[in-house]
Amino acid sequence: MISKKLEEAINDQINFEFYSSYIYLAMSAWFKDQNYNGFAHWMEVQAREETFHAMKFFNFIFDRGGRVELKTIKQPVGDWKQPVDVFKSAFEHEQMVTSRISNLMDLALQERDHVAAALLQWFINEQIEEEASVRNIVDQMRMMGDSKDSIFMLDRELNARQVGALVAAYLTGQPAPNA
Ligand code: MG
Repeated sequence: MISKKLEEAINDQINFEFYSSYIYLAMSAWFKDQNYNGFAHWMEVQAREETFHAMKFFNFIFDRGGRVELKTIKQPVGDWKQPVDVFKSAFEHEQMVTSRISNLMDLALQERDHVAAALLQWFINEQIEEEASVRNIVDQMRMMGDSKDSIFMLDRELNARQVGALVAAYLTGQPAPNA
């Protein structure tokens, strides 16, 4: 069984993952408006990954005999000046996610819930990748500065992003490959 305290905190995190998905969709919409279709695609993939994260917590609560409570999703910000600002916001957001996951891990350890700790370890590893990939894009964009040509080339490059195998399996309803 999951403790009430942890159940509540994970329910909050389900909401936050859906909110993250919403944020990335807002970013995708902004890029689409500006005709950066590759960045828009990258953000849409990111939004799908966040839905998958939410569902991972959702299923965990059921597996541990808890109750899921879905709450209202906050409206995301939807306005930026230039592409690099969007990715900077994404990076700041991922840092916030990392600190939230760390707090959840602290709580799981306090509650001596090692099953929850194992799940959260998966998320901590995931956050290392999330932060690194966004930081990498921000760094590249900073180097490109005002060069429109370079930004458009990066836009084309990011158009190739695909969802991870676990997310793809989730989205298509196929059995998950061995992680
Ligand atoms: Mg997430």
